[in-house]
This record gives sequence, structure tokens and C-alpha cells, in this order.
Amino acid sequence: MPYDVVIAGGGFGGLYAARRLERRLPRHSARILLVTDVNFLLYTPLLPGAAAGALEPRHVVVPLREELEWADIRLGSVTGANPAADELRIVTVDGRQETLHYDQLIVTVGSVSRVLPVPGLAEHGLGFKTLADAIALRNRALLNLEIAESLPDDDARRAYLTFVFVGAGYAGLEGIAELQDYVADVIDRYPRCRIVGTRFVLVEARDRVMPEIPASLAEFATRELRGRGMEILTNTTLSSADQESATLSTGERIPARLLCWTAGVRPAPVVGELGLPLERSGRIEVDATMRVAGSSNVWAIGDAAAVPDPAKRRRAPSPPTCQHAIRQGRRVAENVAATLSGRRTQPFRYRTLGVFVDMGQHKAVATILGLRLRGFPAWFVARSYHLALMPGLVRKIRLAADWTVGLLFGRASAELGQLGHPPALGDAARETVSPR
Ligand SMILES: Cc1cc2nc3c(=O)[nH]c(=O)nc-3n(C[C@H](O)[C@H](O)[C@H](O)COP(=O)(O)OP(=O)(O)OC[C@H]3O[C@@H](n4cnc5c(N)ncnc54)[C@H](O)[C@@H]3O)c2cc1C
Repeated sequence: MPYDVVIAGGGFGGLYAARRLERRLPRHSARILLVTDVNFLLYTPLLPGAAAGALEPRHVVVPLREELEWADIRLGSVTGANPAADELRIVTVDGRQETLHYDQLIVTVGSVSRVLPVPGLAEHGLGFKTLADAIALRNRALLNLEIAESLPDDDARRAYLTFVFVGAGYAGLEGIAELQDYVADVIDRYPRCRIVGTRFVLVEARDRVMPEIPASLAEFATRELRGRGMEILTNTTLSSADQESATLSTGERIPARLLCWTAGVRPAPVVGELGLPLERSGRIEVDATMRVAGSSNVWAIGDAAAVPDPAKRRRAPSPPTCQHAIRQGRRVAENVAATLSGRRTQPFRYRTLGVFVDMGQHKAVATILGLRLRGFPAWFVARSYHLALMPGLVRKIRLAADWTVGLLFGRASAELGQLGHPPALGDAARETVSPR
């Protein structure tokens, strides 16, 4: 009987684990089943580019069926598990409840935005974690420009031209920098808005931006963004939000019509339904080989798991990055294959090679193999790195084409919020079309 190897989650950890398993396990010996709620991997480092209209949304995803040769893909949501019976519960995309048996299970369901109980935040803040978030952000920014352009008085206009981001990790910093770059690119088409000008505010609870990079590079990034007129408020938190404003811990009330929350992530909610031991942070507790504590056939990796970071002395968990999820995916596949053939498993060994923070306007900061780069060289290396890492030649060409077209001809300003929400047949909008 072939072994059933089930992977829950089709992001960085899931795809790279499945690809390695396809190579390591002979076809007749195992069935690999990947359960995922979307049929693509979202290449998150390029999400700010999609939000800023520099990249086509379809070009920042990797369709799983194009990358996997023989693993089975099941579109649906994992809803729970019974590890004592080796069972995983799922709801398929058409609403059927199924129970899957596994001999080996790899959990890699990633993370979601960590929303704090700040009054008004859940109702009025936008997230920046999914492709839908990125497109919503771009559309909201454009809609704000359209509304601002149509308003009679400058004060009301100003609120629509104020953009507040909370959380200055790489998602927040890259997100605000790319959005500002984009708005600067299109604002000439909005003459009243151009006269009033825009305001971009980045709020951070800690005393500096980007704890992931050395202080000198974080200072460079701060100086660069302040030089572009952006306000960076450290040691400051968001106290409350409403439809028209964001109020900060300093007491300042900023009239703003766009609030984006990028203050950290927490494991995907289903992690709490799997009957697995969790650490204080809510991530699944695993050992250095990524086997779940107290289990012989369940493994967990990526943002959802507290995989001990080999780069740190104490048993601190690996940072939630795709670099780690990719390497953990490959290693966990090797360990699953080893377990099935009675060989020894190996611990996860990886040290971060580098970090890039793209700040738009052809500038970035980067640390690569101990080297610190900033400005254009860092930006060039960051783009080359992402081109190299994006799977598939055609996808690399599409990325390069998007970047080149953006450089030469600027970016489009069509607000496409209606995409995916067509009017129902028979709606008034359709009735204006004369029948044939
Ligand atoms: C804006 C942004 C920028 C980033 N930039 C960088 C960067 O520059 N460099 C870097 O190293 N990292 C970056 N990251 C972090 C990186 O994206 C994550 O660390 C990485 O995606 C984690 O991989 P994963 O496999 O654990 O989760 P993911 O890649 O998120 O994959 C999890 C998958 O599981 C699916 N899933 C979730 N719940 C269920 C369920 N119940 N049932 C079925 N499927 C489910 C999800 O839809 C998803 O497809 C960034 C993140 C964001 C948000």
C-alpha cells in the first residue's frame, strides 16, 4: 500500500515541500496530497509592487498546478484534525466536508495579520497580507484621489490625500514606500490634488523601523523616506480609528481616509483546531527536525510553526520569512522521506543569507552575506534576487517586462474595484445595453 503524505497549506513551505517529496518518493510508494484554500503560491516579497501598480497581480503568484508534476491538489480549507486517529478534516471548495487519512502530515498554513483590539481598527483598517489586500489598497488609494479631486474644499481633500500605515516591519515600510512612489507617479493627472499635496505617515511602536536589519541600514531607510516628505513616528501606537481619522498614542488626531495595518502576524486560526501543542506565541511546537512535539508523523513548518532558529543560541523560533519557509519545506520533505524509509532525520540548518527592503524610486537597503548595501546597488541586487527566485522562466520574463514597462511608460491609474464583483444579471446597469 502506498503511504499517504498530506500537506496542509500551499504557500512557500507547502510548495517547496511537495516539490522535494515528488523527487524523493518513488511514485508507486506514496500519494502526495496538498490541501490549499487557493490554487497558487503568493510571492509576498512582490506584494508591495502589485499594490503600487508596478506589477500585474497575476505575475506575483505561482500557480501550484504548473509547478507540481504528480502531487494531487485539493482546493479547500483545513478545518481541524484528530492526530490520535491520523485524520485531517477539510471542507472542499464546493462545501463538502471530508476526512482525510494520513501516514505523514506536514502543516504549513502560514499566518494572518495580527489585529490588536484598537477601537475602530477592524472596521476601518486595511490589511496587507493577501493579494486581495494589495489590490484593495491600490484601488482605495486611487478612489481617494478621485474623491479628493471632486471635493470643493481643500481641508476635506487633504484627509483623502493622507495615508497612514501602522507597523514598520518590511511589509509596512515597503508598502508605504511603494504606495507613495505610485501616488507621486499618477498625481499629475489630478491637478487639484497635486496643488494640495499628499501626506504619508508611518507609525511604529518600537524606537526604530525594521528590527530585521542592522541599525545603520534602518537609519538610512528612515532618512531616505523622511527626505521624500514622509513622516515616521517611532515610539508611537495607534489608539483608535474611525472612518475619517486615525488617533495616535501621542494624542494627535490625523484626518485620514486610508489606514493600513501592518503591525505583525499570528499563526493561521486553524492552527488552534488541529489538536497539536502550541507555544506561547500560538505557533506549533516542533523540535529541530520540525517534528511536532509528542508526535511521530506530524510535522510543522513556516510561519505557523516555532521551528528553532539555528542562527540563535537560545531556543528562539525562526523568523516568519519565506527564506526560512522554503528551506524548512525542503528539509521537512527530506525528513519525511527518511522516516518512511527508516533512515535518520536531520535538523533544520539555515542562516539568513540576507534581507532586502525595497523603498521604491530605485532604492533599497540590503544585507547580503554580511555585506551592507544601500541605494541603487541594493535595489538592483534585490530585483535580481527576486527574478532568480521566482520559479519558471516565463514568470521571470513577465516580471522583468512589468518592471521595464513601468520604468519607461509610468503606471496605469484605472481604479478596478469592480473586478470580481459583476452586477447580477438583470441589474439596472445591464438593462441599459440594448437587446440584440
Ligand atoms: C507584504 C509581505 C511582504 C513580505 N516580504 C517578505 C520578504 O521580502 N522576504 C521574506 O523572506 N519574507 C517576506 N514575507 C513573509 C513571508 O511571506 C512568509 O514568511 C511566508 O509566506 C511563510 O510561508 P508559509 O508557507 O509558512 O506560509 P504562506 O506562504 O502564507 O502559505 C500558507 C498557505 O496556506 C493557506 N492556508 C491558510 N489556512 C488554510 C486552511 N485552513 N486550509 C487550507 N489552506 C490554508 C494559505 O492560503 C497559504 O496559501 C512577507 C510577507 C508579507 C505579508
